[in-house]
Amino acid sequence: MQHSHNGNVVNGSMVWSPVKSLWWSAMVGVALVGGWFTFSWAALVLFLATTGTVLLFGHSLGSHRKLIHDSFACPKWLEYLLVYTGVQVGLSGPLGLLAQHDLRDHAQRQPDCHDYLRHGRSFWKDGWWQLHCELRLDHPPRLAVPAHIAQDRFYRFLERTWMLQQLPPALLLYALGGWPFVIWGVCARIGAGVTGHWLIGYFAHNHGAMAHTVEGAAVQGHNVALASLLTMGESWHNNHHAYPGSARLGLYPGEWDPGWWVLVLLQRAGLAWNFRLPADCPPRAELRVHAALPIALPQAHKSWRATVGAIATASRQLLARRGQLVLEGPFVLLSEQAAHCLAGAGVQAQRTPLRSRLSFDHGGQTVRGLPALLIAVGTRNAFTAAAALVLLPLATLCELARSQVDA
Ligand SMILES: [Zn+2]
Ligand SMILES: [Zn+2]
Repeated sequence: MQHSHNGNVVNGSMVWSPVKSLWWSAMVGVALVGGWFTFSWAALVLFLATTGTVLLFGHSLGSHRKLIHDSFACPKWLEYLLVYTGVQVGLSGPLGLLAQHDLRDHAQRQPDCHDYLRHGRSFWKDGWWQLHCELRLDHPPRLAVPAHIAQDRFYRFLERTWMLQQLPPALLLYALGGWPFVIWGVCARIGAGVTGHWLIGYFAHNHGAMAHTVEGAAVQGHNVALASLLTMGESWHNNHHAYPGSARLGLYPGEWDPGWWVLVLLQRAGLAWNFRLPADCPPRAELRVHAALPIALPQAHKSWRATVGAIATASRQLLARRGQLVLEGPFVLLSEQAAHCLAGAGVQAQRTPLRSRLSFDHGGQTVRGLPALLIAVGTRNAFTAAAALVLLPLATLCELARSQVDA
């Protein structure tokens, strides 16, 4: 994005945007009323699955990390598929989304900008503005969209027809499950996606931890830890303000970033490469890094057999109450107190920021992640031991998948 001239991002007026307002109101209205009368567990599962898919593959990977920031490379067909999935979120077309994002990025880095561009008003006022209105700047900066995107025929087609692009999935879902599937798989999905996008935007510019400061900027980004899984890693927004071009958003130990995990899996499959990371971003004189922690260090890759072996040995001995257990980790999403409450008095929870994952050492081996937590809880009494044993196979599977992306 180059600026042909700077313009002014402070002065402007808010006007009601009929298209934006009616689109959101219609989706949320149908979802609330129609969703009430057509509820079924199948429809709910469909809603969760389609919403998760469009947010992960579409919004996070397609629209944001690829189209807007070009933070990784992939085959053209995959780029188109991811961006098409991103259009399914229902926010706007790809070119419109790119323009909005770049205006915000540019404005938030200036010494001052309009409250709309930095989510600077009260919660309800911001909601009204972001979901129903648009900002007309008196002298908008001219921000050029890269020609290869602006001229792309597929993206121009999607830009003209982004609302109509909800028809193919709607027809398919109607054929599969009638109106309930359309209401839950299209209207509720769009309502939740668009509302969620605003909520995260609001909180990520007003509340949450900060590991970096961009000096002289109109607004700072904040890390909204609780929303990291729901947003597929997008809520590490303080990290994003610091390194806008990084393909990885969760940078520090304990910062879950599902979008990054999937990128690593795509890389393993030969479908993504040339990831840009903080170290590859151009140095910025205005950036202050407060966190003393290193960017999560790569861990020695363990074989599947070693992981399963360590979990089996540790669970056998600890469930038989032999040996002490010290649970270590960054304790970001699960606090030390919470871990202590779950696992009981026999387990010590120790904050060790240099460990990027929840883990304990046992018999010369390290057990990480969910299995580590389950075994710790299992040492409490016979009942928790039984529950831990039942859940261990599933937790081990999760850990095996996770160990593949930890490199
Ligand atoms: Zn921001
Ligand atoms: Zn961005």
